[in-house]
Amino acid sequence: MTGLATPPRDCPLCPRLAAFREEQRAAHPDWFNAPVPSFGDADAWLAIVGLAPGLQGANRTGRPFTGDASGALFYGTLLKFCLAEGEFRGESSDGLRLRGVYVVNAVRCVPPQNKPVPSEIHACRPFLDAELAALPALRVVIALGQIAHQSAIKAIGGKLPKYPFGHLAEHRLPNGIRLIDSYHCSRYNQNTGRLTPAMFEAVFTRAIECVT
Ligand code: SF4
Repeated sequence: MTGLATPPRDCPLCPRLAAFREEQRAAHPDWFNAPVPSFGDADAWLAIVGLAPGLQGANRTGRPFTGDASGALFYGTLLKFCLAEGEFRGESSDGLRLRGVYVVNAVRCVPPQNKPVPSEIHACRPFLDAELAALPALRVVIALGQIAHQSAIKAIGGKLPKYPFGHLAEHRLPNGIRLIDSYHCSRYNQNTGRLTPAMFEAVFTRAIECVT
């Protein structure tokens, strides 16, 4: 399923992102070019919080981590851990289904240079708050990168200074939900070796340990 709390297609809350969205609609009318809905299982025990749609990834295809270099590692890892079923082919029509997992971005609209500004992160957080609150079976959150980490903590009601970000850092949030941090699975982080497949798999191994 997609989108427990989905902003409207023409969400006006971030003027810079709305203008960029219009530019992309004019340049690429066949792309999705709208706030990208979340994706996954409404009975999820695990939520994965990403940063924002990639220009030629989720912004083009309409599904998180689909269409650019992040997807093969991201969904390949979910498939390896039996957290997804089907085949990932890099397009939203590939029929891939998630099992016990829900994927949501901290910011729903594509930002220029992949860099949302603080006001945009703040403006989009109510959608993240609502989505996490709507997952009754949620026990673990994986945050991909510092911004996702901060947004997830605020969404769940924690105080940032108590929870420093670090790859594989683990935090117990006030409501008992476990937060595990990971470096983002972006092309840059993969190409520079900041995040290897083994490092990414270690995050999911730990998430599963937390509930077994
Ligand atoms: S990033 Fe979120 S709050 Fe901002 S315009 Fe897009 S959907 Fe609306």
